[in-house]
Amino acid sequence: MSRYAEVLLPLALHGTLTYRVPEALAESVCLGGRVTVQVGKKKLYAGIVTGLSDTSPSAVGDTLKDILDAEPSGPIVTQAQLDFWHWMAGYYMCTPGEVMKAALPAALKHTTEATPKRRTARDPLTFTSKSAPTPRRPLSEAQQQAADGIKKAWAEKDVCLLHGVTSSGKTEIYISLISDVLAQGGQVLYLLPEIALTTQITDRLGSVFGQQMGVYHSRFTDTRRAALYRKQISDTPYTLVLGVRSALFLPFHNLRLVIVDEEHETSYKQQDPAPRYHARDAAIMLARSSGAKVLLGTATPCLETYQHALSGKYGLVELKERFGGVSLPEIVVEDVKELRRKKLMKTPLSPRLIDEVREALARSEQVILFQNRRGYSPVLSCRSCGWTPQCTACDVSLTYHRQADRLVCHYCGASHPVPKQCPQCGDTELRDIGYGTERIEETVHTLFPTARIARMDLDTTRAASAYTDILNAFGRGDTDILIGTQMVTKGLDFDRVSVVGILNADQSLSVPDFRAAERTFHMLSQVAGRAGRRGRRGLVVLQTMSPTLPLIAQVVKGDYAAFFGTQMAERRRFAYPPEVRIINIHIKHRDDRLAEEAARTLAAMLRPHFADGLLGPYKPAVGRVQRLFIRRLTLKVSAALSVNGVRRTLHAAHDRLVGQPAFRSVQIYFDADPL
Ligand code: ADP
Ligand code: ZN
Ligand code: ZN
Repeated sequence: MSRYAEVLLPLALHGTLTYRVPEALAESVCLGGRVTVQVGKKKLYAGIVTGLSDTSPSAVGDTLKDILDAEPSGPIVTQAQLDFWHWMAGYYMCTPGEVMKAALPAALKHTTEATPKRRTARDPLTFTSKSAPTPRRPLSEAQQQAADGIKKAWAEKDVCLLHGVTSSGKTEIYISLISDVLAQGGQVLYLLPEIALTTQITDRLGSVFGQQMGVYHSRFTDTRRAALYRKQISDTPYTLVLGVRSALFLPFHNLRLVIVDEEHETSYKQQDPAPRYHARDAAIMLARSSGAKVLLGTATPCLETYQHALSGKYGLVELKERFGGVSLPEIVVEDVKELRRKKLMKTPLSPRLIDEVREALARSEQVILFQNRRGYSPVLSCRSCGWTPQCTACDVSLTYHRQADRLVCHYCGASHPVPKQCPQCGDTELRDIGYGTERIEETVHTLFPTARIARMDLDTTRAASAYTDILNAFGRGDTDILIGTQMVTKGLDFDRVSVVGILNADQSLSVPDFRAAERTFHMLSQVAGRAGRRGRRGLVVLQTMSPTLPLIAQVVKGDYAAFFGTQMAERRRFAYPPEVRIINIHIKHRDDRLAEEAARTLAAMLRPHFADGLLGPYKPAVGRVQRLFIRRLTLKVSAALSVNGVRRTLHAAHDRLVGQPAFRSVQIYFDADPL
C-alpha cells in the first residue's frame, strides 16, 4: 500500500508538497506529525504533514520523493492549529508556510532536533516563585461587580472589553477569572505586549498560579521555547500560559479563556516578516474556533475595539476609579513655547518640572521622565550650511549617540563615525539639535547630581536581563529617577512614583499617520497612569508646544469619551478605520525607477476593480530602507465588498505582475489592517 503525504514546509510556497510515505515509516507518519523531506537537489527540511491519502494526487506519483524520516511520537501540531494557520494565511495574505515559520520554535523546524528526552523531575520551565500557590486577595466591591459583569457579558458574547482606568485593579480581576477557568479544568492564554512581559506581572501571576503557569517569551532561548511547546502537546500541559503574541501558536487542549492585556498596544501587530498579524484580532479568531471567551483589557481602548463595544458586538465593562480610592494623577500642562519665549526653558525640563522632581526626591519618592526618542540628539547639523548626516541605506537622518560616539540609523541599525568636519562646506562645528534619552540623562545628572538615575531604552536593554534588572532596581527603590522611551509607559506598577514628566508630548503627533493622535493619547494617558498608583495622589507635568490642542485637554481630563468622539468623527470624514478596512500593498526594489514602474503597473491593474478605494502609488514618509526603494498602494475596502473577493483580486494582480520578466525581482507584499 503506497500512501502519499501533503507536507507543509516553512517556506513561502503557495501550497504543500506531496511526498511518498515509505513502508518503513508508515507507522510514524501521521497528520500533524513532523517529517524530514528533501526539497530540490540537496536541501533537507522539517515539515508538517497536513494531509494523507492512499491515491497519488497526480499522475506523477512515481516520480515523487520519499519522506526521509518521521518523528515517531505522534503529531506535534493539532488540527485546530493547522486550521488557525490557514485562517491566518488567508486573512493576512501570506502563505501557510510563512505562518508555520512564525508558529513553531526553530528547533521544531530543524531536521536535526533529537527526539525529545524525558523531562527531569525539576522541570526548568516551571515557574518558581519564592511565595507560590499565595492566597488570592479578595476583590473589592467594584472589582467583583466588574468580574460579574464580564461573566454576564460572556453569556451572550464571545468578547468582552474591560475598560478600566490605570490602577483600577484590572490585573486582580484577570486573576480571579483565570482561577475560575482553571478550577473547571480549562486552559487560559494570557497575552501581553512584548515589552511589558516583565518580572512584575510574571511574579504576580506566578505567585498565585505557580506550577500551573508557563511563560512564553521571545527573549527566551529557542530551546526553552521548544521545550514549552513540547510540554503543551504532552499529557501534562500548563493550564495557564503567559506569553507574547507568538504564544497564540502554542497547542491547547482545552482553551477556555484568552486575556489580551493592554489590548491597545501596537506591538501586538507583527510588522515584519509575514505573517503580519494582529495578535488581538487573531486571538479572537482562535478563541472563537476553540469555543473560548476573550477578555480585552486596557485603560485606553483602541478605536476599533471601543466601537465594537459600543455597537454591542463586544460586551463592555468599565472601571472608572482607581483601586483603594486613590485619585487619578493631576496633570499640569507646561506651555514650552511660552516658556521659551520668556527664556525660561534653560534645560529640556521646565522650571516647574525641575521643582517637582526636587521635591519628590526630598520626600524620597520616585520620578519617571518620558522622552520617546533614544540616543543623544536626533539631528546633527552643520552650523554654516545646515548639512545633516543621512543614512546611506535609508532616507532618514542619523541619530547621534554620544556614549558610543556614533551616528546611528534607527531604521536599519547601521552606525557611522561622527564626521570631524562638514563634508559639504568644511566647517568643523556640527551642532546637535533636539533631545534623546541619553541627553536627558546627562541633563538630569547635572540638575540632580546626587540622585540615582537609570535609563531604559532600546540601547540599555539589549542584554537579555537588562530590562528586568532596571525595573527590579527601580522597584527596590535603588533608583530615584527612571528616564525612558515608551518602554516606561507600559503597565508598570510601582508604588513610590509620585511625579511623571512628559518632556515632549507633541513628538508623536507630528508623525504623518492617521493614527498619530490615537497613539499619542494612548501613550500620554498610559505614562501618566504610572504616577501615584498607591497612597498619595500623583502629579504629571506634561510639556507641550501646543497646549490648546483638544487632545491635550482630553488627556488632562482623562476624557476617553471626548477623545473617542473627536477621533471617530475624523475617521468617518476621511474614511479611515474603523469606517473602512485598509490593506496596504508594499512594493520594494533596489532600483527606484523599477519600484515606481511596478507600483504604477499594479495600480493600473487594480484600479478598475476598486476605483477611488485605491490610493497611490506614493512614497511612504521614509521612502528607502535598507537600500530598498519603497512604494505603497493603499486599498480602502468598504464593508459592503466581500473581503475574499478583494483578496482574490489582489493575489491575481500580484501574480500577473511578478509574472512579467521585468518585475520578477520586485518584492511585493500585503499588509492587512496595518498599524
Ligand atoms: P491595573 O491592572 O488596572 O493597572 P492593578 O491590578 O495593577 O491595576 O492594581 C493597582 C494596584 O492596586 C496594584 O498595586 C494592586 O496590587 C492593588 N490592588 C488591586 N486590586 C487589589 C485587591 N483586590 N486587593 C489588594 N490590592 C489590590
Ligand atoms: Zn556645512
Ligand atoms: Zn539606515
